[in-house]
Amino acid sequence: MRSFVPSEGYSEVSGKPVPQGLRTVLVNGGAGFLGSHLCERLLQRGDRVICLDNFSTGRRVNVDHLASNARFHLVEHDVRQPFDIEASLIFNFASPASPPDYQRDPVGTLLTNVLGAVNTLDCACKTAAVVVQSSTSEVYGDPNQSPQPESYCGNVNPIGPRACYDEGKRSAETLFFDYHRTYGVDIKVGRIFNTYGPRMRLDDGRVVSNFIVQALRNADLTIYGDGHQTRSFCYVDDLVEGFLRFSAAGSACHGPINLGNPAEITVRRLAEIVRDLTNSRSRIVHLPAVIDDPRQRRPDISRAMAELGWQPRIGLEAGLARTVGYFDSLLAGAEKAEAV
Ligand code: NAD
Ligand code: UDP
Repeated sequence: MRSFVPSEGYSEVSGKPVPQGLRTVLVNGGAGFLGSHLCERLLQRGDRVICLDNFSTGRRVNVDHLASNARFHLVEHDVRQPFDIEASLIFNFASPASPPDYQRDPVGTLLTNVLGAVNTLDCACKTAAVVVQSSTSEVYGDPNQSPQPESYCGNVNPIGPRACYDEGKRSAETLFFDYHRTYGVDIKVGRIFNTYGPRMRLDDGRVVSNFIVQALRNADLTIYGDGHQTRSFCYVDDLVEGFLRFSAAGSACHGPINLGNPAEITVRRLAEIVRDLTNSRSRIVHLPAVIDDPRQRRPDISRAMAELGWQPRIGLEAGLARTVGYFDSLLAGAEKAEAV
């Protein structure tokens, strides 16, 4: 059992005094793309943050800029193993999220989601913490209803190559609701639809980072299949705002709640927008479709609007422009390092 109690008086990194009486928030998967933005926002509002991560798909560099903050603590740990950390609020964001990442070790992915949920919920039981789960639109599988409301039970192939993730997240939702009904844990289950932004990895493999990196390198933009499949892309700052509101919602509000941007576009159109935004000379090419790729995906966010007063504010072109800026400087830095 991994235990961690942040040192009471002084930061272990900066040696500076830590103010007492703060709310402690545990972020599992806090060194990942979404988790690192969440840690940043929690620190900005004055919380003490414990970021727990095994660095399998996340990176230390995502939270390096937070390390000197006396209220930030980094714990290297795998959520498949039990842990005991005192916090009043827990966000469970620990899981690979990109299809190439989660399919690389399918058994590990399923266990991260199932055992990670059990260990997180057990930890929450001991401290009576509110516990927030990062679920996914993948629980709807290849939906035959659009947009998808939370009442839709989904269309998931339980034995396909995406099942380790989809069924892992579905099982995690089951565990969350059973811990709530059986032990009274205050749970919040948010279903995230495709979210993008700075700090995605260059080699992450998801469509937004792939297209932007390909366009900036004037390489072919690779569409899997005919490109008529749709997604609805949410900028990271909007998503984090939705989760912060959800975590603060009253104890009658457990979800599931869809969190995403309902503006739906085809993958083909996304490729064209990215190519235009980057003034790229890239060609758009088609590769074979991937197995069980959902044909359409668009959140019904009426529940988030009614219960959290939340809706996304950042449009696709504005969000993509910020993300292009991020990858542009990342590639420039990588090229400079190669030249030295
Ligand atoms: P990410 O891969 O950047 O972040 C996941 C983080 O979890 C990484 O830091 C990784 O090292 C850590 N992690 C993975 N397995 C772990 C384990 N066994 N123990 C401890 N840490 C572990 O992905 P992301 O996009 O930031 O996704 C974060 C969460 O949000 C995931 O749970 C994902 O399923 C969910 N989600 C994301 C999206 C999206 O569009 N970004 C959509 C739906 C759901
Ligand atoms: N996709 C694509 N080219 C890429 C990466 C992805 O055409 O280089 C497609 C993928 O097949 C899917 C959509 O883009 O239809 C979104 O894929 P992503 O991996 O970003 O997320 P998913 O919603 O599938 O989890």
